[in-house]
Amino acid sequence: MTVTVRFAPSPTGNIHIGNARTALFNWLFALKHKGRFIQRFDDTDVARSKQEYANAILYDLHWLGIYPDATEYQSRRFEHYDDAVERLKAAGLLYPCYETPEELELRRKVRLSRKLPPVYGREALALTSAEMAAFEAEGRKAHWRFLLPNYEEGDPEKTVRTEISWTDLVRGEETVDLASLSDPVLVREDGTYLYTLPSVVDDIEMGITHVIRGDDHVTNTGVQIALFRALGAEPPRFGHHNLLTTTTGEGLSKRTGALSIGSLREQGIEPMAVASLAVLIGTSENTSAVASMAELAERFEPETASKSAAKFDPADLTTLNRTLLQHMPFAEARDRLAVLGVTGDKAEAFWLAVRGNIDTVADALPWWRVLRDGPATPIEFSDEDRDFLRAAFDLLPEEPWDGTTWKTWTRAVFQETKRKGKVLYMPLRLALTGLASGPELAELLPLLGREGTLARRP
Ligand code: GLU
Repeated sequence: MTVTVRFAPSPTGNIHIGNARTALFNWLFALKHKGRFIQRFDDTDVARSKQEYANAILYDLHWLGIYPDATEYQSRRFEHYDDAVERLKAAGLLYPCYETPEELELRRKVRLSRKLPPVYGREALALTSAEMAAFEAEGRKAHWRFLLPNYEEGDPEKTVRTEISWTDLVRGEETVDLASLSDPVLVREDGTYLYTLPSVVDDIEMGITHVIRGDDHVTNTGVQIALFRALGAEPPRFGHHNLLTTTTGEGLSKRTGALSIGSLREQGIEPMAVASLAVLIGTSENTSAVASMAELAERFEPETASKSAAKFDPADLTTLNRTLLQHMPFAEARDRLAVLGVTGDKAEAFWLAVRGNIDTVADALPWWRVLRDGPATPIEFSDEDRDFLRAAFDLLPEEPWDGTTWKTWTRAVFQETKRKGKVLYMPLRLALTGLASGPELAELLPLLGREGTLARRP
């Protein structure tokens, strides 16, 4: 069977690096197993879901290097869920309830005071048709609960410990006791669906073989496995990865926006920096900059993810970014440099000269300007340094220039002026770039050329 996974966010906001972790775990799993990746939008909540968020999510995934084999929207599949509802009702596994939230809360308190588990007591199963009709006449509408298979044969009143176990791809052996859970509401009183049923129906109909998602869904898995079986399907395999939190332990939210994929992109963080951190953090693998998705797939070992939350520091993204840029071939940077206006026959040599000194690709632009237009603010040199520089510039070798010219030149300058070390290099660097640090002058010099260099003679 072809491995088939899905990434199933609700399009109610922009995805953040924690969501990217889920998407990437699925994508890398599919890559490793030559499987399929389905992008599924859990948009049954039509009021909060927006197509523009779905589009933004697809864009973010594409930017990260995730290319879904198919895209599905739950809002276009209601008839499939309606059909499953009819089947469950016919089997007596979905039953109408009329309690208000206040009534439920009161019952919960009573159960707690009697030292009973605070789960739904299935009182609605005992309703007669006359009682239901009376509720309906009052204007109440039913919500529908799934009868969990956690009771003694034939008697839903008598719940018994019912273990549902699975071997989690990440966490190993997992067990949920269905008797510790309330019968979940699958359909609200206004007829809308909660996430559980549509998710299971889709996982069945789309042939999902592996459900990989955050560990906030571990408990849902017990219910879902029961639902798969109630609908006559074999449950898929499950994997629950740990969630990302900030260094102070706060969870990430689609609403806060700060660590959204879009904002990281705007800050100039490379997709592979995001992917490397999102995948490797909180696993036994070192978090290092991995240059390609194929390489990341090789490093990807979901079972090495820890069971506790993975704290991460956004500052690590900048470090990873710097490392990626240091090794980034020109071909990969070319289009983005062109957008910045860095084009022409010097663009490649320029990139190779500056890539080791930048945090983001956009940081290359000020260097391009320095080379083209001279230092942003020319330096006021002391008389002594100015005399030194004039003498030095008079010693500039003839062209052609290459990577060795700097050495030839500074050797000649040393012989003439006896300056060496910092007192020799620093005035030259300041005269050429206006800045005390930056890319190797040996690489910048051929880019300036003799004429460009002479133009910087103080
Ligand atoms: N829409 C659900 C979520 O975003 C999907 C969970 C799942 O993968 O089953 O949490």
